[in-house]
Amino acid sequence: MSREPASREPAAGTPAVEVRGLHVALGGTPILTGVDLTVAVGEWVTVIGPNGAGKSTLLRAVGGLLPAPKAITLFGTPSAALRRRDRARIVATVAQSPVVPPGMSVLDYVLLGRTPYIPTLGRESTADVDAVHEVLGQLDLAGFHRRELATLSGGERQRVFLARALAQGATLLLLDEPTSALDIGHQQDVLEVVDQLRREHGLTVLATMHDLSLAGEYADRMVMLAAGQVVAAGTPPEVLTEELLATHYRASVRVVPGAHGPLVVPVRPTRP
Ligand code: ADP
Ligand code: MG
Repeated sequence: MSREPASREPAAGTPAVEVRGLHVALGGTPILTGVDLTVAVGEWVTVIGPNGAGKSTLLRAVGGLLPAPKAITLFGTPSAALRRRDRARIVATVAQSPVVPPGMSVLDYVLLGRTPYIPTLGRESTADVDAVHEVLGQLDLAGFHRRELATLSGGERQRVFLARALAQGATLLLLDEPTSALDIGHQQDVLEVVDQLRREHGLTVLATMHDLSLAGEYADRMVMLAAGQVVAAGTPPEVLTEELLATHYRASVRVVPGAHGPLVVPVRPTRP
């Protein structure tokens, strides 16, 4: 798969993502207030937080889908200064519930990821089709290319969404709950593929996840959002604490050490 470099090489030490004092209001309601976030090149950062905390909104802002003047810098370039095509070569997003175009095959859908490499009014090349087949193979989807997307199971479709983002060849992946529709085996498969690509191709990952144990096993660092603000940030053991989860999720959990990070076990609350 071709991973063409961004138009300019950023200076060494420049973070992949830098968010400073991000405010987002939607429909007149403040959704994010004063959010700071840094993701180093090659790092995997996972944003957690209860429903409605603003996780998807934060990823949409970083992906350039919301106006965010000055607050967001990608690989040293202010996000607002990036043209659409240039941005697509840098950032690939898997939305929480992507739109499924009716009648579209898996191959054609994943080929959409190659759009930034196909000349305007041009057609995809053999290299584009090869890149798509390579990614389909990596995600255990070989043989699915002719299937209509709408006929796939939720988990198969989720892997196709990820395939489209990987085929895009961007160096920064934004994954909004990439595993929520998957069974436990495919959750691990998808996260392992992403981690392998991260190690082999230097990808940077900014994700949101609801499974806190899985989140902690794969993330280098975590950020907890609640009511549109960062309430904790640090390594998984620093963020996945019984106290923080009780305060911000109103959850009763036990946190036990695991080989790759803390494991969060829901425990039925005792009656008073
Ligand atoms: P999360 O992904 O953490 O569950 P979201 O970022 O999707 O949270 O949403 C954060 C808050 O913003 C929610 O309260 C949601 O209802 C609200 N919200 C999202 N989109 C809009 C919109 N277009 N207009 C008004 N409010 C919105
Ligand atoms: Mg969300």
